Amino acid sequence: MQRIVVLAGGIGGARFLRGLRFAVPDAEITVVGNTGDDIHLFGLKVCPDLDTVMYTLGGGIHEEQGWGRADETFAVKEELAAYGVGPEWFGLGDRDFATHIVRTQMISAGYPLSAVTEALCARWQPGVKLLPMTDDRVETHVLIDDPDAADSGRGEDGGDGTAGRKAVHFQEYWVRLRASVDAHAVVPVGADAARPAPGVLEAVAAADTVIFPPSNPVVSVGTILAVPGIREAIADAGVPVVGLSPIIGNAPVHGMADKVLAAVGVETTAAAVAAHYGSGLLDGWLVDTADADTVGAVEDAGIRCRAVPLLMSDEETTAEMARQALALAEEVRA
Ligand code: GDP
Ligand code: CA
Repeated sequence: MQRIVVLAGGIGGARFLRGLRFAVPDAEITVVGNTGDDIHLFGLKVCPDLDTVMYTLGGGIHEEQGWGRADETFAVKEELAAYGVGPEWFGLGDRDFATHIVRTQMISAGYPLSAVTEALCARWQPGVKLLPMTDDRVETHVLIDDPDAADSGRGEDGGDGTAGRKAVHFQEYWVRLRASVDAHAVVPVGADAARPAPGVLEAVAAADTVIFPPSNPVVSVGTILAVPGIREAIADAGVPVVGLSPIIGNAPVHGMADKVLAAVGVETTAAAVAAHYGSGLLDGWLVDTADADTVGAVEDAGIRCRAVPLLMSDEETTAEMARQALALAEEVRA
């Protein structure tokens, strides 16, 4: 049986996974999910990327929106707002709340996130093994200009560029500010001391193929790779590692990934993202047909590259992307 490991963020990862599962229904697919987006709201632990994967593969996702539940209502949020309790900028619906209540209850009872995720998936039956990247707390923070900071002049930061700046939680940057201001740095706080969740390194070691779906290279895949041991395990696994570009025609497909790419000094092009992962990690890279002219540059960087349609417009189109990724993996394996 074919064993595939996929490092996934939210929407891009989840939609790709649906196509992959459709393309190879008999494969054993292990998903290592990003937990750097996790946030505590109203005393509840919310794991947006794990839930997006779980709901998408389990048939409960709000299709058009790409996150949250279908047929959702917002009575709890409205009642909280009536008490003046926010934040109001994060959309938690009534159905979704139940997931976070169950998760928080289990965590309070001492279960690690990986066990909680397995329990939640018992309901949703996503058809993949969904693992958080770590059971430890990792929180992605984004360094932005602080509009409230007094102009303190140069040098007060000792030259590290932090004067007049502040770090905000990734969700505050992404959802509240809609990435409207520049990100100076993206820091997965806690990642350096985090350990891969049980099963992650084992799945990578047993994998026939590792896939980076068209997830955000910085705050989704990049955060997973920041957990010590995961990058090394993938590079050492000795199996094809192939990725699909989330960047088409020098822009993210619906989204703001360009803001966090700029923060890490990477151009918003399919070729630059491939180079960012690097030939030490990535063996193959799919770019969209719109970026066919960059195939040569990627190959010159030591990464096998093909141009194929990469818009996940429906399940069959997405399944074909998955087949192309697996075909590229076989090509580099040969
Ligand atoms: P998030 O956690 O919900 O932001 O989701 P991910 O990190 O998994 O994926 C976000 C990325 O998906 C964005 O950077 C988009 O560029 C990319 N994306 C979304 N739809 C498509 C698509 O149809 N094709 C491709 N190639 N990328 C897509
Ligand atoms: Ca995310």
